[in-house]
Amino acid sequence: MQYSYKLIRSPRKSISVSISNQNEITVRCPWSLSKADIIKFLDEKSEWIEKVVQNNAVRLARNDDVIEHRSIYFNGKKLPLIMSDKTELAADAVYIKKIDDIEGLYKKECSDAFLKQVNEISEMMLIKPASIGIKKYKGRWGCCDSKNNLYFNFMIFMLPPDVRRYVIIHELCHVLCHNHSQAFWKLVSDYEPDYRELKKKLSYYDFLTQVY
Ligand SMILES: [Zn+2]
Repeated sequence: MQYSYKLIRSPRKSISVSISNQNEITVRCPWSLSKADIIKFLDEKSEWIEKVVQNNAVRLARNDDVIEHRSIYFNGKKLPLIMSDKTELAADAVYIKKIDDIEGLYKKECSDAFLKQVNEISEMMLIKPASIGIKKYKGRWGCCDSKNNLYFNFMIFMLPPDVRRYVIIHELCHVLCHNHSQAFWKLVSDYEPDYRELKKKLSYYDFLTQVY
């Protein structure tokens, strides 16, 4: 295989391969598996690996301006990110003094309307979380803890509105079902029949959770 990968051996029984949003490939396998068997496994998976790596590469290349903090997403649209002596979310640009200001700025401008929206959807679904908060997370969009407190990543304000709504529904469904079982996805589909497409759309933006 032409790609380099990280190999993690452990007491597991089977071999698996995963690819991160940043195109880091990780292979997990049992202690005793031979090099030849690993190569054979990767050869069998090569078409899938190639497809995922290429899709990631295209997405990352289209967003190098975001990764390098020259642009920033807001409601699914890119705006210029301008270093300035003011902090402002304007219609045509986002002004900040330093990168760390983004979280506070987005929360200040968007939290009220967002919390109102979550409450409306929660009432519509008849699912009531213990509380709703907004935090900064790496590698995830939201979280429902064992006490049914919901937390959303502040980067949710960067997502297109339909994708954001899907994340809200997804997390609210976790209040009733704390895993990603078939029953969970059935529940999600009851409230959002297009969830598969929205889930795929969300994965395009997953890299954002590693940028800030
Ligand atoms: Zn989930």
